[in-house]
Amino acid sequence: VTSIVLWLTKELFQISVPSAKERTFIAVKPDGVQRRLVGQVIHRFERRGFKLVGLKLLQVSKNLLSQHYCQLTKKPFYPDLVEYMTSGPVVAMVWEGPNIVQTCRMMVGHTNPAEAHAGTIRADFSLHVSRNVVHASDSLEGAQREIMLWFDGHDLLKWDCIDQSVTSE
Ligand code: ADP
Repeated sequence: VTSIVLWLTKELFQISVPSAKERTFIAVKPDGVQRRLVGQVIHRFERRGFKLVGLKLLQVSKNLLSQHYCQLTKKPFYPDLVEYMTSGPVVAMVWEGPNIVQTCRMMVGHTNPAEAHAGTIRADFSLHVSRNVVHASDSLEGAQREIMLWFDGHDLLKWDCIDQSVTSE
């Protein structure tokens, strides 16, 4: 009965329920890998309660990068951005959980570390906008596009976290 009442309430009042299956794309950029921050970045998302569903270490090609940053190709910093992002390995990840796109953006912080709030990854680990340690998708559509660009579907795992019923509704 409770679940029917909940369902009816949500339907009647159009309350949007965050999908536990929402996914986002996160990458530890070459400066983060060089500085051995991969574990610390992963720890933050694990600690929050999100679920890792895809992970790989790769050397990014200029082709992949130009697709990933297709909206930035005209920016004056774009050539430097390509050099930075191809300078060493990147750790690419897909994470899953309720409201994850927005939450991860908050956890990652402002693009410019100088403007990022203390406690965010960029504020805690970086100094300059051109070396800001992590990437996180900025919208649901962006996340879907980036996940498809960086991962084959069969590299993403469906699995149950044993604590899911404790950390989510
Ligand atoms: P975000 O990574 O926060 O989504 P953008 O998509 O605007 O931000 O920029 C992509 C990346 O380009 C940034 O994370 C940063 O590494 C780099 N970048 C952005 N703006 C600048 C800038 N003014 N100078 C140098 N690099 C920049």
